[in-house]
Amino acid sequence: MKELKSTEETCEILEILKEKYPAPETELNYNNPFELLIAVILSAQSTDKQVNKVTAQLFNKYQTPEDFANLTPEELATEIRGVGLYRNKSKYIIKTCQMLLDNYEGQIPQTRKELMKLSGVGRKTANVVASAVFGVDAIAVDTHVFRVSNRIGLAASDKVDQVEQDLMEVIPKDLWSDAHHWLIFHGRNLCKARNPNCSECPIIQYCDYAKSSKS
Ligand code: SF4
Repeated sequence: MKELKSTEETCEILEILKEKYPAPETELNYNNPFELLIAVILSAQSTDKQVNKVTAQLFNKYQTPEDFANLTPEELATEIRGVGLYRNKSKYIIKTCQMLLDNYEGQIPQTRKELMKLSGVGRKTANVVASAVFGVDAIAVDTHVFRVSNRIGLAASDKVDQVEQDLMEVIPKDLWSDAHHWLIFHGRNLCKARNPNCSECPIIQYCDYAKSSKS
């Protein structure tokens, strides 16, 4: 089994990423927890830029769970056509809004466990919302976090849940939420899926992928 980085080495890596990406926050635009939940559901297999374009108009027209629950899936699908999988997301969002009204008095539940009961909300979405809105320490593993952490050697698995476990093991808990953003930014900026820009990378001396490409 591949050996993971030690916590000490991991902290050195994160310190460098912190300097490079000083504002560890989501790039999704939102004004309240409800809007963040909708934006994160919309973001699956879409870029934050695409989502922000859609939500700029969407949140002008509809603001509350009631507003969304009153739409038909077809009506909402038309509003969110700019993101991938919009037909499915439309159904999830309407169902989630109905659940918020029926079970949570229209509020967003605060724990990952409760969030994951909502339609279209998996562990990643629940982690993002719990972390950004309620300050819960959590590492949401999206495609960037998954790829970058496996390359560096912070994780060693082809399973998302195991990658999250690996990261929680090597990263101190108080850095989980920030580390999630640093790894995303690094994946978007340098450690891209195709052709990672290793020659520009400030953590190249730590990276297992870079070491193995040299050998
Ligand atoms: S050295 Fe290359 S593969 Fe490793 S983290 Fe940097 S960009 Fe990614």
